[in-house]
Amino acid sequence: MEQCDFLVIGGGIAGLSCAARLAAHGRVVVLEGESAPGYHASGRSVAVAHFGLGERVVRTLTALSLPALAEHGTRHPALHIASSAQGAALDALEDTHRQFGCDYARLSGDEARALLPVLKSDACGAALIDHGALKLDTNAMLQAHVATLRAAGSGVVSGARVSAIARESAGWQVKASGETYAAPLLINAAGAWADEIARLAGVTPIGIEPRRRTVIAFAAPEGEDVRAWPFTKTVGEGFYLLPEGGGQLLASAMDQTPSAPCDAAPEELDIAIAADRVEQATTLPIRRIAHSWAGLRSFAPDELPVIGHASSAPGFVWVAGQGGAGFQTAPALSRIAESAVLGLPFPADCAAAGLAPAQFAPARFGA
Ligand SMILES: Cc1cc2nc3c(=O)[nH]c(=O)nc-3n(C[C@H](O)[C@H](O)[C@H](O)COP(=O)(O)OP(=O)(O)OC[C@H]3O[C@@H](n4cnc5c(N)ncnc54)[C@H](O)[C@@H]3O)c2cc1C
Repeated sequence: MEQCDFLVIGGGIAGLSCAARLAAHGRVVVLEGESAPGYHASGRSVAVAHFGLGERVVRTLTALSLPALAEHGTRHPALHIASSAQGAALDALEDTHRQFGCDYARLSGDEARALLPVLKSDACGAALIDHGALKLDTNAMLQAHVATLRAAGSGVVSGARVSAIARESAGWQVKASGETYAAPLLINAAGAWADEIARLAGVTPIGIEPRRRTVIAFAAPEGEDVRAWPFTKTVGEGFYLLPEGGGQLLASAMDQTPSAPCDAAPEELDIAIAADRVEQATTLPIRRIAHSWAGLRSFAPDELPVIGHASSAPGFVWVAGQGGAGFQTAPALSRIAESAVLGLPFPADCAAAGLAPAQFAPARFGA
C-alpha cells in the first residue's frame, strides 16, 4: 500500500494544477486512469483565455489568472462579433470588458472585416476586439505542473483507474489498477467522472453534467496567411473560428450536448453544423474537414466551479465543474483549492475581487 499526504484523482488541468500547489505542503500522488495525463477534456480544448464566456465569477477567476497564464500564453486578440440583432448582447459584453479593465475597442462591421476579411457583412454589424486575450500552450501548462510535482518528490501514476474508495479512520483508501493508495485527504478532480468518484466514495453527488463540444479543423484558403486572424466568436449562438498552426483553421458551433462521461467522439451532424455556420457567416469554402474532435465540458447545476470539502465527508475535496474555462481559470482556482484542502484562509486577492468560499462550496448542492 502506498501512503501519501494527498491523493488526487484525475490528471487533467484541474488535478495537476491543484496537485502542483499541494506538493509544497506534502507528498502528492495523482492517479490518472488513462495512459497519460490530459487525455480527456484537457487535451481537447482550443486553448484560448478571454472574457466572452461564463458569468461574473468565472470572469473574475479569469482576470485573477491572466498574469500567471502569460507564462504559457501569447497575446492573440479575441474578436466578438454581433449581427444587427445582437447589439444588446454586444453592449453587455462591452460593459464586462470595461469592468474588468480589458484592453478592448468597439469596432464597426467594416473595422472587424479589416481584421477578418472573410466575414460577410450581414454576419457582423458591430464587434468588440479584446487585445488582451491569450492563446495558451495547454500542453506546456500540464507538463509544467508534472515537472513541479516531480521536483517536489511527488508524481503522477498513469494507467491507474480508480475502482474502489473506502473511508478509514485515518483517511481514504483507494484501489486503482491493482494497487492500493492511502491518504488523509482525497481530491476529486475527475472532470466528467467527478460524480462517479463521489458515488464510489459514498459521498453525495453534485449533479455534474458533462456536455460534448465539437471542433473541426480545415485548410485555410490557399496563399492566405491566417496566423494573425483573431479568435473570432459570435456573441450569441453561432460559432467560433481561430487560426491553428500548419495553415489550418479551427471552428466550433459551440455545441453543448449533454453526455454520459465517456471518451467523447464527434458526431457527423455536429461536424456539419459547425461547417455550415462558418460557411453562412464567412466566404470561406470548407471543401474538406481535415480533422475533428470532441471533448466534454463539465458543469455543476449553477455552472460555477465546485471547490471544497464534502459536507458529509470531510477530507473528500471536490475540484470539479470547470465547464468551458478550466485552463483560463486554473491559476486562481488551484489557489482556492489549495486553501480549501488545507483549511487555510481564502486567497486575499480572490476575496478582494468579491469572491467567497461559499460560492464554490459543494454544500450549495447539499453535497
Ligand atoms: C472543445 C473544447 C474546447 C475548450 N476550450 C477551452 C478554452 O479555450 N479555454 C479554457 O480555459 N478551457 C477550454 N475548455 C475547457 C477545458 O478543457 C476544461 O475545463 C478542462 O480541461 C477540465 O479539466 P479537468 O481536469 O477537470 O478534466 P479532464 O481533463 O477531463 O481530467 C479529468 C481526468 O480524470 C481522469 N479520471 C476520471 N475517472 C477516473 C478514475 N476512475 N480513475 C482515474 N482517473 C480518472 C480522466 O481520465 C481525466 O484525465 C474546452 C473544452 C473543450 C471540450
